[in-house]
Amino acid sequence: MNRGKIAIAGAGLCGTMMATRLAEYGYQIDLYERRPDLRKTDISAGRSINLALSDRGLKALGMIGLRERITTEIIPMHGRMIHPTGGENTMYAYSGRAGEYINSVSRGGLNMTLLDEAEKKENINLFFEANVRFVDITNTSLKVIIGDTEITKEYDVIFGSDGAGSAVRRTLQAQSSKLRFDFQQKWLSTGYKELHIPPTENGGWKIEKHALHIWPRKGHMMIALPNLDGSFTLTMFTPFEGPVGMDRLVSDDLITQFMEENFSDATIHIPDLLEQFHNNPTASLGTIKCYPWKYNRTVLLGDSAHAIVPFYGQGMNCALEDCVVLDTLIQKYDHDWDKILSAYQEVRKVDADAIADLAEDNFYEMRDATADPVFNKKRIIELRLEENLEYYSKYSLVTFRADIPYHRAMKQGRLQNKILYDIAKKVENPTTVALEPILEEVNAFLTNRM
Ligand SMILES: Cc1cc2nc3c(=O)[nH]c(=O)nc-3n(C[C@H](O)[C@H](O)[C@H](O)COP(=O)(O)OP(=O)(O)OC[C@H]3O[C@@H](n4cnc5c(N)ncnc54)[C@H](O)[C@@H]3O)c2cc1C
Repeated sequence: MNRGKIAIAGAGLCGTMMATRLAEYGYQIDLYERRPDLRKTDISAGRSINLALSDRGLKALGMIGLRERITTEIIPMHGRMIHPTGGENTMYAYSGRAGEYINSVSRGGLNMTLLDEAEKKENINLFFEANVRFVDITNTSLKVIIGDTEITKEYDVIFGSDGAGSAVRRTLQAQSSKLRFDFQQKWLSTGYKELHIPPTENGGWKIEKHALHIWPRKGHMMIALPNLDGSFTLTMFTPFEGPVGMDRLVSDDLITQFMEENFSDATIHIPDLLEQFHNNPTASLGTIKCYPWKYNRTVLLGDSAHAIVPFYGQGMNCALEDCVVLDTLIQKYDHDWDKILSAYQEVRKVDADAIADLAEDNFYEMRDATADPVFNKKRIIELRLEENLEYYSKYSLVTFRADIPYHRAMKQGRLQNKILYDIAKKVENPTTVALEPILEEVNAFLTNRM
């Protein structure tokens, strides 16, 4: 069956997933990717090597039959391992319930698995080094440059899943006053640099394998996620300017001193620290909000519609969840694309905005609050509530409840946090305090506010 012709710009995480799902319905797909085939060329370039994959992303992978396979390619991370400047490291579980954890996955590995799956479909044409330049939203046609050839082709639907710097979105921006296209980009004054802890000689992990490590330093921080080969990818988040700014790290002595003062228990595991520091780029982070996401039969998907900062570990999960939402609407509206695309942007925008705001909040929580004693008391109470009673923290609602939309998770989670923080301030011993009265107080607070 041929249901129609669809073009997808960007064979990253969600473009490839969407192509596979649409091919299953019988569409003829042209999937255009600007870069070379990453299964044949190393193009990681030292940026964002691994990602936290959680329930929303796993559910989406399940939709195209990849959930089982991916579990062999991930490392469970059961909690946050906090590395203070002095004293003992402490592990805080992500949930009080067994089986609720997040997973470290290789970005390149996951993209390759998705590409392999897409390539199995006869009705997907994959084009690499194919640079989408322009979309004509009136005729639903797309201009793409493949090698020396420029091609313009009409489709029934065009998806722009070409990431945060989307060319499809730029086409809409270029006509923003005519289309009344809203666009907002907010940069963080903090940038990031990736570093790498190599494996032990036997291919083991030099620090705890099943944790997301955090070095919160008020004003800046570092995190580490494990890789399957025994190494860790560290990401240092530091302001571009200021007392702990990247602009101060101008000599080898200053870099070494800064790293040893702040992250000594990681630095000891990086023999070529200075080389890595100089070679790996410092990159920017930002949030992109825009609307509408669809004009006629052209639509934005994933980061091109809603790029967020990485502090909730949800950007990819959200992008993959877009595909699940679209899939539900394809079934609901029986392939009527005008209805599907209108409903998609209507239901999804509020959730994309919610996770964008939550991700910004979490930056401050990871950087500062994880070093705050009241925050840590609150966290202990929450974990006990989850372990013993029917309760989901904000983190759990966002991360482990793929059945709850982000905007609802945000509202409930923020209310819970407010009341629990006040309770935690008064609690002497969070490990023994009675839980039932606390849950009653939380539920009473939520009533009439949700
Ligand atoms: C430092 C960092 C850490 C992160 N950590 C996490 C995390 O732990 N968990 C999480 O869920 N998310 C995380 N994210 C977010 C995640 O990387 C993105 O949300 C996700 O990659 C979005 O997927 P996408 O398919 O929309 O876009 P992308 O993965 O960016 O894919 C876009 C694709 O389009 C291609 N392309 C671009 N322009 C063109 C063009 N003109 N023509 C053709 N092709 C084009 C690109 O080459 C690319 O392959 C992180 C992001 C960063 C920066």
